[in-house]
Amino acid sequence: MNTIEKFNGSVMHTYGRFNAVLEKGSGRCCTDESGREYIDFGSGIGTNSLGFCDNDWADAVCAQVRTLQHNSNYYYTKVQADFAEALCSTTGYSKVFFGNSGAEANECAIKLARKYSFDKYGKGRHNIITLKNSFHGRTLCTLSATGQDSFHNYFFPFVEGFVNAEANNIDDLKSKLDETVCAVMIEFIQGEGGVVALDEEYVRELFSLCREKDVLVITDEVQTGAGRTGKFFAAEHYGVHADIVTLAKGLAGGIPIGACLADEKCSEVLSPGTHGSTFGGNPVACAGGLAVIKKVTAPGFLEEAAKKGEYFREQLHKISGVKSISGKGLMIGIELEKGDAHDIAEKCLERGLLVLTAKTKVRLLPPLNITYDEIDRGLKIFKEVLEV
Ligand SMILES: *Cc1c(COP(=O)(O)O)cnc(C)c1O
Repeated sequence: MNTIEKFNGSVMHTYGRFNAVLEKGSGRCCTDESGREYIDFGSGIGTNSLGFCDNDWADAVCAQVRTLQHNSNYYYTKVQADFAEALCSTTGYSKVFFGNSGAEANECAIKLARKYSFDKYGKGRHNIITLKNSFHGRTLCTLSATGQDSFHNYFFPFVEGFVNAEANNIDDLKSKLDETVCAVMIEFIQGEGGVVALDEEYVRELFSLCREKDVLVITDEVQTGAGRTGKFFAAEHYGVHADIVTLAKGLAGGIPIGACLADEKCSEVLSPGTHGSTFGGNPVACAGGLAVIKKVTAPGFLEEAAKKGEYFREQLHKISGVKSISGKGLMIGIELEKGDAHDIAEKCLERGLLVLTAKTKVRLLPPLNITYDEIDRGLKIFKEVLEV
């Protein structure tokens, strides 16, 4: 029995998978079971921020596995302290809670916002405004938060207390920001929604409206954060600072992690017994995260990633079949003149290039340390696929 048959015989069929069994990787390339090589423009889904098996990252992770792989959160570990301190000092946030995924980071943010409001104002101020076309995760609560009707099926009843507003429509937001609302949660660039960035003016107005009413702003930077857009946070492109930020995907270089960062104003809201996670802040994940944060915040690294994002855009514009390009830095959405994004992704795979899709677009989330040569080689394949 081959791997795919074995896999499908035992793993629930919850994904439309591509027909490739990936076996090992190094840098920005990986090989499948048959030895076929692929250039990686997807980084998992933006998780392998330093590519496959970066040496320093792998050394840090392996050393931690051989020292202390896990203990419960009823004890302290130095590696969690080091990582938390690095994350807080890099970002300017006061405190962090660690979970294991983006959805968990958002669950924490949602609980934190509701408790902040409950502690200060009592019951009834529990609603959270999220945007139409957003994506916040797959747990029942984060699915409920997700502003896409197509996700609101089968699993009834959903979690109450989420109100959707139209992105970039400040009047719609105003009309929904009543005394029942404790927080507004946004992605600066809707990733799963098709790599769609919010307007700067809308974001600035949203922040000031929320500040006036003591409504917390939660920014879901699970996809946009940790350097993906050429800045550590996409917030830096907008010149704003949210009360709560969530991170996950690329934060630990491909090891499961989620982080919910809180500003001074709300960093003491979650008290002992009100939140927790068995694996959250796991030492191996923290060692991976520390290795990522060291590289990503080294002088010049993010400037270089931003330049490569520009290079991608320049080169993509020259390819006929590319209608428009969205996103920022190394978060790239490609609207096609014609053809189906998933078909294009399949054809890229057949020729040795891994790409992602988001709605009707091809989506690229390449490793942040990709080289110009690798970009050229990957784009050559992409061009061949689009121009046949
Ligand atoms: C991927 C993603 C999530 C969910 O992360 P998981 O790790 O899959 O739970 C949440 N929000 C955004 C913006 C994402 O891109």
